[in-house]
Amino acid sequence: MREEMVNLIKLQAIDQKILAIDKAKEEFPETLKEAEKALEEKKKELQAIENEIEELQFKRRKFEEELEQEYQRLKKSQTRLMEVKAQREYQALLKEIEEIKKANKQREEELLQMMEKVEALNQEKEKLAQEIAELEKKVAEERAKYEAQKAELDKERAVIWAEREAIAAKIPGNLLKRYEFVKSRRNGLAVVPVNNAVCDGCHMNIPPQLYNELQRDDRIYECPICQRIIFFKKAYADILPDESSTEEKTGPKNE
Ligand SMILES: [Zn+2]
Repeated sequence: MREEMVNLIKLQAIDQKILAIDKAKEEFPETLKEAEKALEEKKKELQAIENEIEELQFKRRKFEEELEQEYQRLKKSQTRLMEVKAQREYQALLKEIEEIKKANKQREEELLQMMEKVEALNQEKEKLAQEIAELEKKVAEERAKYEAQKAELDKERAVIWAEREAIAAKIPGNLLKRYEFVKSRRNGLAVVPVNNAVCDGCHMNIPPQLYNELQRDDRIYECPICQRIIFFKKAYADILPDESSTEEKTGPKNE
């Protein structure tokens, strides 16, 4: 019976390692997250500038058409000026020409401002495009690093998995099934030590009668509160792994 318990403890230690590897694989490195966020923001900025440029260009074209029409109108008025003979009509036409000229000058200035704005925006756009290219490079690098780390973890996991298979093969089927069942319902932690009558899984006191039995024989007991498989810590101190000592196990504190 002690042999079964030893194998269960070993299996639990291996499964904790596998769990840690799986967690590490899912964790997105901060540097990659930051680079991706920065890239996303710059892309949004670029989109906003492109929209602004497009709007301005549309407005500019409309302005140019209007100005062209006004130039035509001016030409017509100037031609008519040569033809009119009546003084009053001449004066009125002259006034009209002056007004058109004045309005056109205003339009020309506005058009110039628009073109300057477009030019400034285009420069900004170019700068942003450069920054985006750099960030894309950074994201690709960080992602490659992350993928390499993941591949490393996969290798490590495969080695540990082989160890697990070897241990699991030694455990009777129904006991292994029970272990898996509890593990799936108890956050990956199915086998826990009991120290000073306290279950290390749920941190509750186990009944004195059970505690006595646990110290006396090698049978497989379970915690009446969290249903985890329990063992008397002092009796198995020799096989408890150092690096994943039970104090460091991150199981749920209360259940
Ligand atoms: Zn418990």
